[in-house]
Amino acid sequence: MTTDSVSTRRHFEGQVAVVTGAASGIGKALATALVGHGAVVVLADIDAVGAKAVAEALGHHSEAVALDVTDAPAVRRVIEGTAETHGRLDFVFNNAGIGAGGPVEELSLELWDKTIDVDLRSVIYGVAAAYPLMVRQGSGHIVNTASLAGLVPSPLLTPYAAAKAAVVGLSTSLRVEAAAKGVRVSVVCPGPIETPLLNQTNPPGVAGPATPVNARKLLTNALGAPYPPEDLAADVLEGVVENRALIVAPKSARDAWAFFSAHPEEMLEAMAQKAIASRDRRAVRDTDVPEGSGSPGAVTPK
Ligand code: NAD
Repeated sequence: MTTDSVSTRRHFEGQVAVVTGAASGIGKALATALVGHGAVVVLADIDAVGAKAVAEALGHHSEAVALDVTDAPAVRRVIEGTAETHGRLDFVFNNAGIGAGGPVEELSLELWDKTIDVDLRSVIYGVAAAYPLMVRQGSGHIVNTASLAGLVPSPLLTPYAAAKAAVVGLSTSLRVEAAAKGVRVSVVCPGPIETPLLNQTNPPGVAGPATPVNARKLLTNALGAPYPPEDLAADVLEGVVENRALIVAPKSARDAWAFFSAHPEEMLEAMAQKAIASRDRRAVRDTDVPEGSGSPGAVTPK
């Protein structure tokens, strides 16, 4: 065991955590790493069967609960119930989320609303339930999963980027307020991570755009191969131990964020030029398509 993993274990051992979206991907990796460091973890997910399977594999330091994070009273019940059962609540990872995108002119209001409900309101509900409780305790750490899309422009993922940017704003503003109350707040902004979310940009049950977006292709073209969720979970827990405000990973995401922060106009202009060039390439290609042979395919600027 390295010195780092010793201090990480010391930080989390015996601590009580709620992780939302813990049945899959990043949430599952976070819950697994937390239990590995000796924490007691409540795995909350709308996928009750998936959360139960993960909790069973993790053993007696974990427990699964069925939770739809868009249901504010249910979020409160899980958060307050965990604090009551264990005598306190040390960590809340507001992590559950969905992907959403497409050309904005093709998006339904239903898709916008669903994205805001699952990717933003859920975080507000988690904060509204956990923060007053942590203020009363005089301790606790809220860790919200946003995205690199909340820090840099993410064309064709506009509803997702809007919700995630709001999560960044919520988290950084609350962090400053919370500091005086003994409560910590961090926001996680990952680049592309190898999870099922990369294959899903239309929330289930919602009418998607006529031109669906291939998020995996879009993000891989821009930022390289997706990062493993287990590596991201290790980065997140390290950032939590260090009480970092923004945990941005992997390196390709930090580079993109640094470039946009230093050169916002240049980056926006370069992205716009790329999109225009891609449209023009498609227009040329379309003139070769025999009449009636259908759409040229998904919009994925190179
Ligand atoms: P994932 O699809 O593997 O996991 C998301 C989990 O959230 C699933 O288990 C799903 O059942 C759960 N969930 C969805 N809607 C829910 C609801 N209403 N109530 C409760 N649970 C719900 O995806 P992931 O990549 O692990 O995503 C986790 C978080 O990371 C999300 O907030 C996502 O936006 C963010 N993120 C992902 C990436 C990526 O490339 N995968 C990049 C940046 C940020």
